[in-house]
Amino acid sequence: MNDNSSINFFNMNHEKILFCQDKKTGLKAIIAVHSTVCGPALGGTRMWKYSDDQSALTDVMRLSRGMTYKNAISGLNLGGGKAVIIGDSKTQKSPELFIKFGEFVNSLAGSYITAEDVGINPEDMLHVSKSTKHVTGLPGKKGDPSPITAYGVYMGMKAALKFHKGNDSLNGKKVLVQGIGHVGLYLLEYLHKEGAIITISDINKEAVKNTVSKYNCKFLEPNDIYDAEMDIYAPCALGATVNNNTIEKLKCSIIAGAANNQLMDEDVHGKILFDKGIVYAPDYLINAGGVMNCYAEIHGINNKKVMEMAGEIYNTTLDILNKSKKENIPTSLAANKIAEKRINMELEKRIN
Ligand code: NAD
Repeated sequence: MNDNSSINFFNMNHEKILFCQDKKTGLKAIIAVHSTVCGPALGGTRMWKYSDDQSALTDVMRLSRGMTYKNAISGLNLGGGKAVIIGDSKTQKSPELFIKFGEFVNSLAGSYITAEDVGINPEDMLHVSKSTKHVTGLPGKKGDPSPITAYGVYMGMKAALKFHKGNDSLNGKKVLVQGIGHVGLYLLEYLHKEGAIITISDINKEAVKNTVSKYNCKFLEPNDIYDAEMDIYAPCALGATVNNNTIEKLKCSIIAGAANNQLMDEDVHGKILFDKGIVYAPDYLINAGGVMNCYAEIHGINNKKVMEMAGEIYNTTLDILNKSKKENIPTSLAANKIAEKRINMELEKRIN
């Protein structure tokens, strides 16, 4: 899922990594607890057919670190963690596999709390909950976090527009949504309502057919999107789509989407975007609605309040973009600085 050529495992400062294997159910999973400084490490479980184990490890390490920053910048009392189950989500799921996975989650005694991510749905989490209570996103509770995630992405996108153009209206703006899965579809609703000119791309031909007719939008093949004219690129599929191959082609002035780890190399590609004048709304900042939903489930916060929390992503995004401008640093770095400030404050509290 990600290039793992440039990763230095120990430099990423993970607290612990657990390899989970069960021959009977076929479970092969990795749970990464990056940090519990701000609270228990919360992050979803992704099920994906990784090409090799190394790619799965790289992915879970990057994603869990991203969760630490996301939870910190969102002001939640949560640390960062993530899990990956290696396998095909269409053919290799079983209740027993998820129950076994729950046992591994449980062995971490609450230092890791799981939820849904790509390839996982609330029913899968219900099976996980049979063997651990450290699970969120359950049916009948807050359930699927995608609608709140989409709302936060929409607010972050509008804030980026406000920063860049002085006006946050999406009316008439050309937006390309890559990936019309759970989050992408909800995002389309907001864009459509506001009169954006939408283009979509997805590898799922059936989903594309239905969506094109519903929203009367254009479709581009996955490989053609980087040559397209657009105002806003909204990556809502997988990570690392802003990389050496795509960055020179991109014709947008704003990048704002739901996918985690959109920049293949945060330092390198964050700087190139900044130098090119492309406003990058940091992914972990604007896609934090989902984790807010999980937090609300743990702490019994009502839906209205969660929407308000996700709505605040607008102001936080503006703050970060203004900080980037003022300090003449990439937006990704500006976001990291704010997140690290919070983490260091929590660390100091622990020491004193
Ligand atoms: P999803 O699996 O429901 O949707 C992903 C979509 O991307 C699918 O329709 C898939 O066919 C498509 N896709 C895969 N490869 C593609 C490609 N090369 N080109 C175009 N489309 C492609 O996942 P989701 O829950 O909608 O999440 C989307 C992204 O947002 C993920 O990166 C996820 O980690 C991130 N995210 C999701 C949430 C959430 O609440 N679901 C929260 C935070 C971040």
